Amino acid sequence: MIDQAEDLNPLHIARAQFDAAAPYVPSLAEKDGLPELVFAAERTVEVHVPVMLDDGSIRVFRGYRVLHDHTRGPGKGGVRYAPSVDEDEVTALATWMTWKCALLNVPFGGAKGGVDCDTRSLSRNEKARVTRRFISSLGDNIGPHTDIPAPDMYTDQQTMAWIYDTYTMMHPGEETLPVVTGKPVNLGGSLGRESATAQGSFYVTRRFLERGGLPSRNSIEGATIAIQGFGNAGRNAALIFAEAGARVVAVSDTQGGIYAPSGLEVAAVGAHKDSTGTVLGFPHSETLKSREVLEVPCDILIPAAMENQITAENAERLSTTLILEAANGPTTPAADAILADRGIPVIPDILANAGGVVVSYFEWLQNLEHEQWDYDTVQVKLQRRMNRATDQVMERHAEILDSHGADHITLRIAAYAIAVERVATATCQRGIWP
Ligand code: NAD
Repeated sequence: MIDQAEDLNPLHIARAQFDAAAPYVPSLAEKDGLPELVFAAERTVEVHVPVMLDDGSIRVFRGYRVLHDHTRGPGKGGVRYAPSVDEDEVTALATWMTWKCALLNVPFGGAKGGVDCDTRSLSRNEKARVTRRFISSLGDNIGPHTDIPAPDMYTDQQTMAWIYDTYTMMHPGEETLPVVTGKPVNLGGSLGRESATAQGSFYVTRRFLERGGLPSRNSIEGATIAIQGFGNAGRNAALIFAEAGARVVAVSDTQGGIYAPSGLEVAAVGAHKDSTGTVLGFPHSETLKSREVLEVPCDILIPAAMENQITAENAERLSTTLILEAANGPTTPAADAILADRGIPVIPDILANAGGVVVSYFEWLQNLEHEQWDYDTVQVKLQRRMNRATDQVMERHAEILDSHGADHITLRIAAYAIAVERVATATCQRGIWP
């Protein structure tokens, strides 16, 4: 049954997810008003970013930086360049960063930023000017110990290098390397950061399966995988899961999807995308519409594009046994309820894609220590953190089920219960200033 009235506002969804977990967070009930304080964003900055385009005309873009919470450490969160960027989207993404950092126990709060622009219509120089003017407009709303940006959709290592350079020019003589993470390795970036989001998703899935999270399967090897989105998160996930013996049967990008039940040669799909700009047209594959990729039969479905892709409209049609949210906010609350009824577990975004912020944290530490860790050190530390968080979510899930019964207690509720509890407790421990 299609629910025409489904509310797809990301901030309303973030609030609904928070409210669903609140009954399982004892510390939230300690003080009247605490839930409002914990959910509210601390600071929202909107800037108008004037940029001279290559043709000499001027265009003004809207940019945002939201610091949701810094109770457990400085704000941390990506910068997104997309036409969908507005205050509610950025605020929702910032709240999710707060819970993600708390769940993984990295000493950061949540933040996010973005510019309302379509990077496909910008030249490289225009994108550099947007970045530099955006960062200079934000001024000291970001900083190595206050709020630290990172990559997100349509921003990458190069964008982070421009952010670093701009901030450094504005703060001569200061130690500024830790102001941004996801930088090129040659410029203070961490080994393993580029693939960290997907690598973390892989570690979480492997742990979840090994611990019996899915009765029908205990290993990634031989699993069929469908992935929506073929950028940093999706493409690296395809490579890493295929390397571990999974069969990637479908992938997609903004232009559409490709499907091959016998499996896609992932590296060759990547080369095809690099040369043509899309996965479409890959030899020996069937062409699908982008969202149809979500519905192909598979063992593990990985939404790795953007919010609101699995909704009340298509949740009944998914033909998978497990969903791994590499994207932020891909599943709506109405879809969550349908999937819970259908017995399809969803490994929630704040766990599934947290590998990115974990290795960002490692990069920040390496910058502060003037060190560069080797790749294996990064992987050992990343895997340990992802495994621990997976164990905690599964254990909390079992506890809540035991104590409260079985109706619609999802892994998301369990993950939020841990994360919100940590933030609410820290808020009470610090007290309200003055
Ligand atoms: P990206 O810019 O590298 O890639 C985005 C990909 O998604 C592109 O292949 C694009 O074609 C595709 N895409 C966009 N809209 C689509 C649609 N409607 N249907 C199908 N494909 C679509 O971005 P990314 O960094 O991979 O981010 C993807 C998701 O992962 C976002 O939700 C982001 O917040 C999340 N995420 C990213 C990181 C990171 O470190 N990059 C960390 C955590 C979470």
